[in-house]
Amino acid sequence: MRRTTFRVGLGHDTHRLGEGGPLVLGGIEIPHDRHAIGHSDADVLLHALTDALLGAAAMGDIGELFPDTAAENRGRDSKEMLRLAYERVRAAGYCVVNVDCVVFAQRPKLGPHKRRIQETIAALLEVPADTVGIKAKTGELVGPVGREEAIMAECVALVERFETTGSQTR
Ligand code: MG
Repeated sequence: MRRTTFRVGLGHDTHRLGEGGPLVLGGIEIPHDRHAIGHSDADVLLHALTDALLGAAAMGDIGELFPDTAAENRGRDSKEMLRLAYERVRAAGYCVVNVDCVVFAQRPKLGPHKRRIQETIAALLEVPADTVGIKAKTGELVGPVGREEAIMAECVALVERFETTGSQTR
């Protein structure tokens, strides 16, 4: 007899914003007059999503997997980091059921870009686009997000693993 184990993971990330675009977000480049500052390509959404996936499998976090002290991670494509992290999660037997993401940015308006971000993330995770939720909130002109000093993202990921009853389960 087989049973399914579900696990949920939570991810959060923040990056400072600097003058000049483009803004790398959700695996795409968005034309904007500010960019996220970071050791890698500073994709705040993919970093939060990577942590959500790692968290679901209790496999640590993105900083442990890809230290910002390592030269090979300088300017690194966050799509590659997400793929590598998800490969580890899959190797442990877990597959994504769905993910849900919130981006906190005063500007730009993300409405016109949500579909492309959704499709990009779905392709990276090899899941249908309708299992990837993308939402956007402003900072209501207050706080670091509202003052356009920072961009943040939060994600949850649900994963499942099929197990045979009698084997070791958690
Ligand atoms: Mg980050």
